[in-house]
Amino acid sequence: MPQPPIVLVFAGHDPTGGAGICADIQALASQGCHAAPIVTCITTQDTCNVFENSPLSGKLVAAQAEAVLADLPIAACKISLLGSIEIIEAVQQILLKHPQIPVIVDPVLVAGGGYSLTQDQVRDAIIKKLLPLTQIITPNSPEASALTGIADSLDAAAAQLMDYGCQYVCITGTHEQTPMVKNTLYSHGQQKQSWTWTRLSDSYHGSGCTFAASLAGLLAQGFDMTTAVYKAQQYTWTTIQHGFKPGHGQALPNRLFFNQDAQICE
Ligand code: PLP
Repeated sequence: MPQPPIVLVFAGHDPTGGAGICADIQALASQGCHAAPIVTCITTQDTCNVFENSPLSGKLVAAQAEAVLADLPIAACKISLLGSIEIIEAVQQILLKHPQIPVIVDPVLVAGGGYSLTQDQVRDAIIKKLLPLTQIITPNSPEASALTGIADSLDAAAAQLMDYGCQYVCITGTHEQTPMVKNTLYSHGQQKQSWTWTRLSDSYHGSGCTFAASLAGLLAQGFDMTTAVYKAQQYTWTTIQHGFKPGHGQALPNRLFFNQDAQICE
């Protein structure tokens, strides 16, 4: 039996299952990958907002990752909510020991309901310690602006993120006031490339996680960056199109929609 590529995931736990580690596991499974999930934080939240975020110790995060890295072949590493400078430093040390692993960063700064998940000093540590080790970062436009201090030009924000050390930047346009959602991929020395998608009417919890995790899975499968970014958008858009609203707040992407289709066919 061929083995699925394994993606190491550093992420927080969201008990709704809409975002965080559960979202990543589902998105990776849907791309034919196996997730090795390293929990960084435990959040208390519902589909409306986050109430509390409790980061684990850096030592515990490092211990989880080291155990997995000593045992499993890791094809890519996806990083989202880290929660403390101590955890960022632990992750940095691990990445420095494994420079061959491509790193996909989904910067998680603010929850959909407005709760701040990343304080300014933690954000600054991400910039200094992790972005120089990052193959691709996938911020939405408010995240790109918060990471760079540049609010009036997405192109300039992307250039700044590449100056921090990211090889590729994909800025998503979900939070822009445009009729279509425009996502743009930037890289050093190449023309930027944009894709536009029909804007779906609801607000979705975990769509950023879905995009970055499926992208990590596609890169782990060996797709080139442009193809992986396109296919991850296509997958994410379809999970949103099949989304459902189980609670009183945001809708959730249906990341396993293909199973439903399979049942209908049977
Ligand atoms: N990870 C966790 C644990 C979260 O709580 C959140 C948002 O609340 C996210 C990631 C990011 O979610 P989204 O993909 O909606 O930006």
